[in-house]
Amino acid sequence: MAHAPISLPSPVAGIIHEQSWKRPAGNFDFRLAQTATQHATSGVMAIDLGNGHANLPPIMSMISGKVVEHRTTDGVTTIQSFDGNWRVVNAHMAIDAVWKAFPIGASVGVGTVIGHMSNTSPMQILAHLHCQVGFKVVRDKGWLDPWPLLAFNQFAVVNGPSINIRTGPSMSAPIFAVSRADGIKKDGIKIAELSARMKVLQPAFAVGDGLIWVRANLNGKVVFIFKGLVHFDL
Ligand SMILES: [Zn+2]
Repeated sequence: MAHAPISLPSPVAGIIHEQSWKRPAGNFDFRLAQTATQHATSGVMAIDLGNGHANLPPIMSMISGKVVEHRTTDGVTTIQSFDGNWRVVNAHMAIDAVWKAFPIGASVGVGTVIGHMSNTSPMQILAHLHCQVGFKVVRDKGWLDPWPLLAFNQFAVVNGPSINIRTGPSMSAPIFAVSRADGIKKDGIKIAELSARMKVLQPAFAVGDGLIWVRANLNGKVVFIFKGLVHFDL
């Protein structure tokens, strides 16, 4: 399976459902409101995320980098990664104090709240986040479908043997299983191949003991693995 070129955290707090998900009455979870394929019919490769509510949820930067575009029209904040390779356009955010706090040139980290989802621009009816991700964008070329680049749409694979797979995002959380050269083992018994693809869950990342942990599904169990010890497959 192909390695993921990047594994992005969610730009919003809470679950993002597939487009096919049907919203129960009174539920305000996020949903993939427009796929990249659908969005591309209007000329732009991007996705839209909405929660069916006008409650201004916070938007978090998916990459660390600098603000390179900051525009009240459409409530846009564009972040470019420090290495210059990746670019994330966030649009339709409210023009509020948080949005204004990150003008062009401001640095942001992964997870920095850069604004709030709104319906900025006269064209928008429902509040949503326009999320556009590009790699080495030149002359508006290089935009990718962001959906498979979100870590929770990917699989985590351990980088080798001797990796502890824990029940919580902490060095002190119990060890559920350990990777060995001949497989992933629980209590000495092989429960999965060393190359097992563990579906990444939402939220994909958790912080514990100053480390970033990946939340994934191993044989139906929610497990946590130090992010530096896995790679991500599409
Ligand atoms: Zn959009």
